[in-house]
Amino acid sequence: MAVNSGTTALFLAYRALLKPGDEVIVPDFTFVATASMVVAVGAKPVFADVDPATFTLDPADVERHLTLRTRALAPVHLYGCPADIAGLMRVAQRYRLRLIWDAAQAHGAKFHGHDVGWFPDVVCYSFYPSKNVTTGEGGMLTTSDPSLAAEFRLARSHGEESRYRHVRLGFNFRLTDVAAALGREQMRKLPSAVRKRQRHAAILTSGLANIPGLETPRITAGAEHAFNVFTIRLNPKILGMSRAEFQKTLAQRGIETAVHYPLPLHRQPIFRGWGSDRDFPTSTRLAQTVLSLPVHPGLSERDLRYIIRTVRAVTEAPED
Ligand SMILES: *Cc1c(COP(=O)(O)O)cnc(C)c1O
Repeated sequence: MAVNSGTTALFLAYRALLKPGDEVIVPDFTFVATASMVVAVGAKPVFADVDPATFTLDPADVERHLTLRTRALAPVHLYGCPADIAGLMRVAQRYRLRLIWDAAQAHGAKFHGHDVGWFPDVVCYSFYPSKNVTTGEGGMLTTSDPSLAAEFRLARSHGEESRYRHVRLGFNFRLTDVAAALGREQMRKLPSAVRKRQRHAAILTSGLANIPGLETPRITAGAEHAFNVFTIRLNPKILGMSRAEFQKTLAQRGIETAVHYPLPLHRQPIFRGWGSDRDFPTSTRLAQTVLSLPVHPGLSERDLRYIIRTVRAVTEAPED
């Protein structure tokens, strides 16, 4: 079901599966909408820490945050890296929880051969310009549950069952025809675009190997990372410079970088008081140390070599 943004997709998914007062476990390290849309439907996001290898929701920490009001989990396939889908599905089954996957950054990612959009209950996508598929603004929900699909279709357009007959509370969350036309063309290109991203990530990973104080993304067994972004981790002490200095030096040499994300959710002003750094050590540390390098399909082999050469020069790590 196409909708007008990823945020809208999350809103409709939460609205269909949650009641006011229900709790949803959300990773502390994600874009704000994963949690804010839980609040928008009157439910409560409960943060849990992420796994230090994949930066995605840690099933063991999820278990520590369960209460009698926990109704669902909302894991995020952050940066295009599939979350521990098997581990999270086991927890969901054991405690009878619904699963809403935030795949806003993960078009084309796979887990043990299955596209991440295949898993129950609902998967939410965004087509914002920075994502692997874009329609300008846009989003989508996928589900194998026909009754949920019917609810999403009704809610998307005024609860209209047939012309001017309204059977549910609905909205105007429609994707425009023009945006849909862009999306269809983009979807055709998705497999080759993801292959390019994966190739670029492999070149960067081997080119940036063995730099003290710099860690490249890890890929776990069975996971196919879609590399919406290529995010490294810095250790400023070993590197001998702060992340801000490193970023500025690269910018001076024409390499644009970004921080996804500078604040963990528990430190966001809107969620102040919902937890402390001590509760989420991995997420807190990641927010201070991650940096995303260019990986998009438009890069040439020469661009990638330039990035590798420049990072090695800046960190004073000679080429292997
Ligand atoms: C982009 C994004 C969203 C929101 O999607 P929009 O289309 O911008 O509303 C939600 N969650 C994550 C993880 C995102 O990266």
